[in-house]
Amino acid sequence: MSADLLFSKIVAGEIPADIVFQNKTVTAFRDINPQAPVHILIIPNKLIPTINHIEQSDEAVMGELFSVARQLAEQEGISEDGFRLIVNCNKHGGQEVYHLHMHLLGGRPLGPMLTR
Ligand code: 5GP
Repeated sequence: MSADLLFSKIVAGEIPADIVFQNKTVTAFRDINPQAPVHILIIPNKLIPTINHIEQSDEAVMGELFSVARQLAEQEGISEDGFRLIVNCNKHGGQEVYHLHMHLLGGRPLGPMLTR
């Protein structure tokens, strides 16, 4: 299976994942290899491979990713202390799975944004 199909299969329930939110357009599930006490991936159900592939008609779902992130941060109890949202794009961005996803990270101080 190509890596871009992995998250589509999670959306379809064909591969197990710890899903914390799902509606018609967005799914959120815990990262299999968490980098912080809270590490959730928030994705459009529709396969958009990278940020480079976002079209004008995707603007609503892109906004929804932020709304779901806000909601999940509150549910996870990390809103007040703070958290980080990351979307990697292509090789230099360190993207591994080519189904656009927003990382929601928190639960501890996350340090500087980038390591040099
Ligand atoms: P990227 O590097 O593409 O921004 O992030 C991909 C993320 O997907 C990584 O943090 C990785 O741990 C996570 N991941 C990869 N495969 C799976 C999987 O099968 N299930 C879950 N829940 N997360 C995965």
